[in-house]
Amino acid sequence: MFGEATLEERRRFYAEEWSPAELPEFIVKSLSMREFGFDHSGAGPSDRYNRIASVAQLQGVLVRLAPYGVYSSVSLYRTPERRDGWLGAELVFDVDAKDLPVRGCGCAKGEVCELCLEEAKQHVLGIAEVLREDFGLKEMHFVYSGRGYHLRVTDREVLELGSRERAEILDYVAAGVVPELSELSFGYPAHFRRRMRLLLPRLSEAVLREAGVPKRAREVLLSEGELEELVQGLEKGTGVLARKLKKKGTEKLMELVRRINAEMVDAKVTVDVKRILRLPGSLHSKVSMKCMLVRKIESFDPLSQAVPKFVSERESKGIYKREI
Ligand SMILES: [Zn+2]
Repeated sequence: MFGEATLEERRRFYAEEWSPAELPEFIVKSLSMREFGFDHSGAGPSDRYNRIASVAQLQGVLVRLAPYGVYSSVSLYRTPERRDGWLGAELVFDVDAKDLPVRGCGCAKGEVCELCLEEAKQHVLGIAEVLREDFGLKEMHFVYSGRGYHLRVTDREVLELGSRERAEILDYVAAGVVPELSELSFGYPAHFRRRMRLLLPRLSEAVLREAGVPKRAREVLLSEGELEELVQGLEKGTGVLARKLKKKGTEKLMELVRRINAEMVDAKVTVDVKRILRLPGSLHSKVSMKCMLVRKIESFDPLSQAVPKFVSERESKGIYKREI
């Protein structure tokens, strides 16, 4: 987003700007049980199977090597340097703004901007809501990844889940959140309303037609006034979908919503417990932004809070233009 960081900038970042306070508590207390991966050249984290014994050792490595990227495992191991003695893994959801299937902005594939980053954030908030309300999970950590968000869950209940159980949770959380089509006696769940509010205005005629949504229902969804009525109706109680879109329109729209929701999350990241994720506090050198723990997600603005000092200095020197 701000262009690639040079080796000199990486060095300055780790020597002058980074401090151990950047590391979230949930990483610090399990640091020596995690496998660390380093990307030295920008080609990916090929230097794996590393054990870092302490925060002081990590700081030494970061200052000395100024790596292009730093990663740590979602799993904890008795012997992380051999990926041996598995003790459990966080439950992780990865929403990358550059991979969102439907975006309200004009970003090309692989690009991100303020708007799609905000959409990724809203999506992650929706996932957290389902995990909290339907699964009773509590220990959730939001991490700005540099181009989207990681949601990392560390409740004891999730740590020992296998890949299949993780896939089932993902399926429920990411895709299967659409309420039954029958008239319910209570309202639509908040996370469903949130997703619909976000998604419906982004659906184009072509996408709706391809999904088999009938003409009359398409007209409702594409008319600003009728769509607004529909979205407001969702807040008041159930039945508005069937009333406005009829049975087939509702069914086809729900199929489409389910498919899009599923594509919002990188399924491989949730299911694969051998994954390593960008270390919160480290530099995402490709875009010159900080990957960081987000404490107040609702008000978090990556374009002001995740920008390293060297980027603002570049701008004041007029070296690089901000590209958004
Ligand atoms: Zn965008």
